[in-house]
Amino acid sequence: MRTQAQAVVIGGGVIGCSILYHLTKLGWSDVVLLERDELTSGSTWHAAANIHGLHDNTNISRLQHYTMSLYKELEQETGQGCGVYQPGSLYLAQTEAREHQLRLQAAKAKLYGMKFYEITIEEARALHPLVNFGGVRCVMYEPEGGNVDPSGVTNAYALGARQRGAEIHRFTPVTVTEQQDDGSWVVTTPKGEIRTQWVVNAAGLWGREVAALAGIELPLMPTEHQYFVTETIAEIQARDRRLPSVSDRDGEYYLRQEGEGLLIGAYEKNMKFWAEEGTPLDFAHDLFPDDLERIEENVMNAIERVPSVGEAGIKRVINGPMIWSPDANVLMGPLPKLEGYFCCNGIIPGFSQSGGIGLMAAQWIVEGEPEYDVFPWDLARFDSWATRDFTKARVEDQYTRRFAIHFPNEERAAGRPLRTRPIYEQQKALGAVFGLNAGWEHPLWFAERPGTQDTNGFTRQNWWQPVGEECRMLRERAGIIDISNFAKYLCKGPDAEAWLNAVFANHMPRSVGRSCLTPLIGRRGGIAGDFTVTRLAEDEFLIIGSGMAERYHKRFFQQVPLPEGTQFIAMTEAMCGFNVAGPLSRALLQKLTDTSLETEDFPFMRSKRISLAGVEAVALRVSFTGDLGWELHCRTEDQAQLYKALLKTGADLGAGPVGGRALMSLRIEKGYGSWSREYSPEYWPHEVGLDRLCKMDKDFLNRAAAAEVLDRPKREQLVLLHLDEEEVARSNADATGGEPIFRNGHGVGHVTSGAYGYSVGMSLALGFVCNAQPGDRVEVMVLGKPHGATVLADPPFDAEGRRLRK
Ligand SMILES: Cc1cc2nc3c(=O)[nH]c(=O)nc-3n(C[C@H](O)[C@H](O)[C@H](O)COP(=O)(O)OP(=O)(O)OC[C@H]3O[C@@H](n4cnc5c(N)ncnc54)[C@H](O)[C@@H]3O)c2cc1C
Repeated sequence: MRTQAQAVVIGGGVIGCSILYHLTKLGWSDVVLLERDELTSGSTWHAAANIHGLHDNTNISRLQHYTMSLYKELEQETGQGCGVYQPGSLYLAQTEAREHQLRLQAAKAKLYGMKFYEITIEEARALHPLVNFGGVRCVMYEPEGGNVDPSGVTNAYALGARQRGAEIHRFTPVTVTEQQDDGSWVVTTPKGEIRTQWVVNAAGLWGREVAALAGIELPLMPTEHQYFVTETIAEIQARDRRLPSVSDRDGEYYLRQEGEGLLIGAYEKNMKFWAEEGTPLDFAHDLFPDDLERIEENVMNAIERVPSVGEAGIKRVINGPMIWSPDANVLMGPLPKLEGYFCCNGIIPGFSQSGGIGLMAAQWIVEGEPEYDVFPWDLARFDSWATRDFTKARVEDQYTRRFAIHFPNEERAAGRPLRTRPIYEQQKALGAVFGLNAGWEHPLWFAERPGTQDTNGFTRQNWWQPVGEECRMLRERAGIIDISNFAKYLCKGPDAEAWLNAVFANHMPRSVGRSCLTPLIGRRGGIAGDFTVTRLAEDEFLIIGSGMAERYHKRFFQQVPLPEGTQFIAMTEAMCGFNVAGPLSRALLQKLTDTSLETEDFPFMRSKRISLAGVEAVALRVSFTGDLGWELHCRTEDQAQLYKALLKTGADLGAGPVGGRALMSLRIEKGYGSWSREYSPEYWPHEVGLDRLCKMDKDFLNRAAAAEVLDRPKREQLVLLHLDEEEVARSNADATGGEPIFRNGHGVGHVTSGAYGYSVGMSLALGFVCNAQPGDRVEVMVLGKPHGATVLADPPFDAEGRRLRK
């Protein structure tokens, strides 16, 4: 066994082997995989191993398609069979919402060159004569859908990696992982030790136990999961072609051909957790006793759809464990604060995603950043706030609604409330409908009746009108928006300015009371973040960024060593904030403070420490609404006092609380981008109009990468689109993000955010389009159908910024 390696992968399931394979593909041959038992010993060996390309997240869909196309290549490359059957998959829609989901997927598939398209019921019946298509509204066909052989695939990855120099040791459990003073790791097994730069935890069912060896706690929880295989079915035996698989997700089961019978699996309502306290170390190629009663309801749905299921006997039942994260997406990425430790755990559709996950993991390790924005897979989306109770509640919700549609704007209730701020109860009494942001409850809109919940769908929902009223109130008078969910940091010390200048791309404000906007640049030169930095004192700065990205951004901040005597402190819990905006915001706030808020005393983009209603706050004259306004940041203890004063004084002026959904609409009216939508490491500064904030006359984090991409022509450009009103009114739907954009039927871009602009009376979308010129006509695929739209030259709200500066 080697004693040194560039990376040591722990776990020889499909994921560990894929990571090993992709590391070698990117040129790292000095890599080792350690497996405690045989390869495939965890969830891998008993999987149904269906493969699908469909996913509600566009990048995940692209990576699933990559995975599906990889298996045949892998067979050719290694000579190891992967048991690939690709008879296609039929996706059935029984509801209008499912139809919208599938049509949107088909439009995305067209944009990205993936095969997923509509077929008629007659065509579907010809492909699968055993299916009863009653009640089906539309059918999509994915010709590459099917299934693989779990052990064949795992061994093919392993063989491919070995052929490029990797070492694999079976029956070699890792018992200790210990970080050394120089940041490297020593991985200990009964067969010896290996020193390495990277430890990769791909221990599947034992992800928690392996993480614990390094002092890490991961929000993971295993469950049981069952499928069964029927005896031979005569109609299938008589066929010379394999049947496509059936994705009847409204029926909450999956179904495909296995041998000469059918395989049916289900995510039942009456689900069962397993090994909550920890996965037993002596568990390997084991299964649980059958419990088909639990999945009876789902099986009845399957029988209704494919009557032969009910007529055939049961040949084999598999009841095995799988391990989940709170949102059923993989927890992957290098651990912020623990150099050289990479996690890749909690994978549910391992066979649909193994290639994509392996590729992203290897790029992250070897090249410092994956080529796609994979924030929905990044473990940094959770932190210690994701407690065990929360994880369990969310996993139950994910499991029991595995095939439910994830609607745009949907907020699931499970495990909440988890983190609340002092005014939570008050907001609730005001009718706030909350969303989850980095574990915090955050008001999205205010309903007339407290206790109201969102309805969900791809069309305009119950919040659409009330959000419009909030927007109009703010634009006509003023609104009070809780912005406590923004991430806040303080940087203090003699070298604070120098350090911030070394991190961020823009010049830091040179005088006290000034603020600047600045991008943070990623390893590939894209936008890793956007921040507002305010100089509070000669040696003190307040930095405001995206709340959901706080842990993600930690990775960047820690790349630039803090000078001695300078501190960088996360203040998100200790501070709360409000944005008071609108034409009467000055009048409202002036009633609460002696500090003059007139423009000559308090111009745009300036800040002051002021006292408002007896509360000390940092006031910044900025507003994401694009209107006249101030951000007020105070101590969390003072949030209630400040809110009370703002509401009371606001009421006299006809102003009141405004939620996050209204803020989304208001910022789109102004054309402002937002992190994770318009700003992501996938987009280059000049594509999003932030190049003017990259100061190439100084050094900053990843400056060379920024210089390199800035030298290249834009691939596409961020634009604001106005959707044809009649068409959106007919569909009763606005763009929400993710919709493809076509020009004369050819894919030219995609939407990143969309909303109705209530104060301008326009349905709007921000998105990326190739070679876009103002006035160009394009089609935006709202609900998967073309809706005419025009590229706007300027934002429809206050293009000259007069309101901001008034
Ligand atoms: C019944 C069932 C049906 C499924 N059907 C499908 C499907 O149709 N399609 C699909 O895509 N997915 C399916 N899955 C899910 C799929 O099986 C998983 O996503 C996948 O197997 C996860 O692989 P993994 O490599 O992450 O984990 P695992 O397979 O659990 O592998 C982890 C490996 O790490 C090893 N290990 C653990 N600790 C140590 C240590 N200390 N030292 C060394 N080695 C260690 C283990 O022995 C094990 O081999 C199904 C799962 C179940 C249970």
